[in-house]
Amino acid sequence: MNTPRPAQRVPVTGADAALDEAAERARLTAALDDAVASQLGFDPGAAFALATEVERAAERLADDALRMRARLLRAYAMDRSGDAGSCGRLAWEVNRWAAEHGHRPLLSLSHRRLSTVYLQLGDLASCLDHAVQCVEMLDDTTRPHERANCLIVLGDALGLTGSLDEARRRYRAAEEILAGIGDVERQLVVLNNLAATEYDAGEWDRAWWAAERMVALADANELPLDANYLDTVARAQMGLGRYGDAARTLESWLVPTGVEDLAPDVSAEIGLTLAEVQRLQGDLRQAQTTLDRCRQLCDERGLAGLRVRVLAEQAELYAAAGEFQRAFETHKSFHAAHEELRSQEREAQARIRQAMFETEEARQEAARFRDQARRDPLTGLRNRRFVDENLPALLARARDSGAPLTAALVDLDHFKRINDTLSHDVGDQVLVTVAGLLASAVEGLLDGHVEGHVEGHVEERPERSAGGAAEAGAGGFAARLGGEEFVLVFTDTGAEDAVRRLEDVRLAVSSYPWSPITGDLAVTVSIGVATAGPDSTQRSLLQQADQNLYAAKRAGRDRVVN
Ligand code: GH3
Ligand code: MG
Ligand code: MG
Repeated sequence: MNTPRPAQRVPVTGADAALDEAAERARLTAALDDAVASQLGFDPGAAFALATEVERAAERLADDALRMRARLLRAYAMDRSGDAGSCGRLAWEVNRWAAEHGHRPLLSLSHRRLSTVYLQLGDLASCLDHAVQCVEMLDDTTRPHERANCLIVLGDALGLTGSLDEARRRYRAAEEILAGIGDVERQLVVLNNLAATEYDAGEWDRAWWAAERMVALADANELPLDANYLDTVARAQMGLGRYGDAARTLESWLVPTGVEDLAPDVSAEIGLTLAEVQRLQGDLRQAQTTLDRCRQLCDERGLAGLRVRVLAEQAELYAAAGEFQRAFETHKSFHAAHEELRSQEREAQARIRQAMFETEEARQEAARFRDQARRDPLTGLRNRRFVDENLPALLARARDSGAPLTAALVDLDHFKRINDTLSHDVGDQVLVTVAGLLASAVEGLLDGHVEGHVEGHVEERPERSAGGAAEAGAGGFAARLGGEEFVLVFTDTGAEDAVRRLEDVRLAVSSYPWSPITGDLAVTVSIGVATAGPDSTQRSLLQQADQNLYAAKRAGRDRVVN
């Protein structure tokens, strides 16, 4: 945080003043970096003060990037003081500025902030979008702890959206970075979040493996684990049926002070876990006592969310004691309370959105970003993400309605030659041109059909004209899966018609006037086609197309195989 300042400031000459300004900028930037990057022991009051100081200095120095950094710190402080809406609004402002100025560090930081805001909004798809972007924007200048922070946020988002292996990979990468710089506190965060992710996925052994390493690391560094971490450890032990160990873990926190003396939400949370453990151990009386204390804390402190979970545990406890009538009644109360809570949450989320998208500009920005996150930046086509999010639903719809669906994998022939003989840049130009030809093949088949399936966000999509001759009721899209491989999807187009269109695509590529771009080198594509049957999944459909693509290559390339 403290880059030493010159002991004496001597603003005599222009050069000295410039040096001084540079030092001032460096100091303020470093201070902000530290504050923004640090998620541990964060003090919103101090953050507001620092943000204000830096914003003033940035005005004086006419340094917009610095001003944006300060704004992002203010955003974080707002979030921590319970104003996620203002946080989101500021983060979008910074994001827009960073995008306009190609400022990668601020893009990364603002995406990270937005990821956590969308998590609070319950919009996991957007949470993941921003987490992915926050990591993609990292570069050589990113400091290790910030890189690790981004990887943790991405790990969390992947875990929450069910990509367990991918989440593990990010946590592992974060852990390695943090071990390399000896940042034990953040390593504990990684292990805790990994354990929680494994636990949520029902991977008890792996949850314990992570929790155990967390305990060992804390012990080795003589760092006490706070209640949240111990709760994770206890949960992992419960997963393995080690109730005695779990109880001891929790009591190590509760016993010295007693439930009431701790931070109320933390002790109520941990008390609830303890009550559950005690019930599972068969100690129903003790469980009831613990739960009563928990409920009391919830009532005193207005912990609505926890109060609902206390009801659920109470129902379990009655059932364990054979009091089924009371269990049933309590379960009903739990349901009612749960519904009530959900509706309150939805209202709160609506308020956050309202504050976040006060202006039409902000709404459009969000919609534009959402669209971008599902496009390939080089060619502007849809990307793999879009395919994964939309193809399953399109298949289901085709199955239900009996409408046809055809997918085709399109792969450039001997593309490596173009890269090797000419250059990577020329290769890129070829990819962009082929993408354009593919897009015209589905032009007018309307992306719009697909758009309706992307749920979980309120932003309106910006209007885009479909262009071309739309066939009534027809749909489809073109996407780049990666490298020089594309997919075309036709819905509501008969298989024969689709193959005819694909033959046109092949011809359009081979007869394109390539010579200004590639000289003597021809450009052709091979295409493998698959038509969906009633049992088709995305996987089976694309596998079939891939086999046919392989057949097309073997048969001499520049052809369509179906
Ligand atoms: P085949 O006819 O069997 O498909 O041969 P190929 O050379 O097209 O296939 P291969 O998979 O061997 O090579 C694909 C090449 O595509 C290798 C890689 O360098 C290149 N490539 C992948 N992504 C890009 C990109 O974004 N831009 C450029 N210029 N080249 C890329
Ligand atoms: Mg190829
Ligand atoms: Mg290929």
